Amino acid sequence: MASLAATVYLSLGTNLGDRLANLRLALARLQTLACLGDVSSLYETDPQGVSDQPLFLNAVCRVTTGLEPQALLRFLKNLERESGRQPGGQRWGPRLIDLDILLYNDRVVDAPELTIPHPRLAERAFVLVPLCELVPELRHPLLGKTMKALLASVGKKGVRRIAPRTWEKGERNEGIAGAEA
Ligand code: ADP
Ligand code: MG
Repeated sequence: MASLAATVYLSLGTNLGDRLANLRLALARLQTLACLGDVSSLYETDPQGVSDQPLFLNAVCRVTTGLEPQALLRFLKNLERESGRQPGGQRWGPRLIDLDILLYNDRVVDAPELTIPHPRLAERAFVLVPLCELVPELRHPLLGKTMKALLASVGKKGVRRIAPRTWEKGERNEGIAGAEA
């Protein structure tokens, strides 16, 4: 039986190399197995956990895909590897690209290698700020609160919007403060 396409929210993050190019490449590759929907504005964010590392660029996107959650995770991990991220690198440390599954319909997954909704979604301003651009009224399937309400508890500290939602379409970085020329 063919599976129906799921609506999925992904977070993208990078803090090494040409960060904007890393994000654009990840979005282009995503489209080989998922249909890309809305993409948030672009944010520059302070690193969490390990503070002595470069600033991140973060964004969130909506995709629709026929991949089941585990297959989607494998696909994303392959994308991370192809982008040169070393498996087993420091957790929360510097990375070329980090792709996380935030939400998959209203599915709840609790497996050793995959937790959906993403376990740190509700505490990460760098995820909630861009996610609220796309779906402020969407309810967290476990917590029952809207993304807007979750963001209100966390605040927006350390998250700065540096480019509008058209950032992913452009080839050039002009006007994107903090992006490589
Ligand atoms: P983080 O994304 O929290 O900064 P990592 O990218 O190093 O940390 O992820 C560590 C592990 O988290 C991955 O190897 C993956 O198997 C697991 N993981 C669990 N749930 C998810 C999810 N929803 N999306 C992506 N990875 C997940
Ligand atoms: Mg990750």
